[in-house]
Amino acid sequence: MLKIAVQKSGRLYDESLTLLKSCGLYVDNGMDQLKAEVRGFPAEVYFLRNSDIPQYLEDGVVDIAIIGENVLYEQKVGVEVLVKLGFSKCRLSIAVPKNMHYDGIESLHGKKIATSYPNSVQKFLDEAGVLAEIHIISGSVEIAPNIGLADAICDLVSSGSTLFKNGLEEKEIILKSESCLAANVASLNTKRDIINDLVFRIESVLKARDNRYILFNIPNEKIAEASAVLPVLKSPTVLPLIDEGWSSLHSVINVKDFWDVIKNLKKIGAQGILVVPVENMVV
Ligand code: ATP
Ligand code: MG
Repeated sequence: MLKIAVQKSGRLYDESLTLLKSCGLYVDNGMDQLKAEVRGFPAEVYFLRNSDIPQYLEDGVVDIAIIGENVLYEQKVGVEVLVKLGFSKCRLSIAVPKNMHYDGIESLHGKKIATSYPNSVQKFLDEAGVLAEIHIISGSVEIAPNIGLADAICDLVSSGSTLFKNGLEEKEIILKSESCLAANVASLNTKRDIINDLVFRIESVLKARDNRYILFNIPNEKIAEASAVLPVLKSPTVLPLIDEGWSSLHSVINVKDFWDVIKNLKKIGAQGILVVPVENMVV
């Protein structure tokens, strides 16, 4: 049995469960349950508070966790990051009031910085050789400068709109973070096969998300030209159509190339272009 920790509610919850489901792990989660059974995989899911997960993981209470890299960094735990999962992207940044004079990290010297991430901030200041006072608060850090509690803040930022609304400007990025799959070090040995199996499933799902299956019809004399437009792993599949002189080309393309490919194919004279999402991709 693989014990998997997932945030009990909050920013990571939905996408964590969606990812597990795409990997064939169906979690029977009655709300308010600490532990849930999983169908389709020899595992059980533990719903825990975000900030509790690193310690449970290091101690081996759970084998695997879906957690933000920023939390692992803050708590300095000895666990292993296996895969980055691409959601809950954010950065841990220092921000100061718009009207504060700021020309580099040295401007923080002697200042008071409010944060919920004291270890990460301290490390950053130490490395820069700056002495500042850290004031720990657990929530609503962004209002601290406005109520005179601190000169600057350090908090997680994604769009930046919270900072903007509070008259703050982002000045230093301490860390870029996203959700990841992390493992207890001992479990990597004792449960190697099952962990590898899960990682394999996750990687194939993540890869699939970036790709599309594309098929279209093209006159035979244009096949070479159309193939050249497709940035593919291998040459496209060519199937003859009943219509004399026409073929159907099938291929897989990355989403980042998507609109360019479509535009070029239209130019060449492709017809009936169909694009299908890919659910799993094992390359
Ligand atoms: P708990 O589960 O104890 O309530 P929490 O309040 O830290 O923990 P969330 O606010 O849901 O939980 O945030 C969880 C994680 O989401 C963060 O640790 C971070 O990795 C990620 N995240 C992404 N963008 C942001 C953001 N703009 N602000 C805060 N967290 C973010
Ligand atoms: Mg919370």
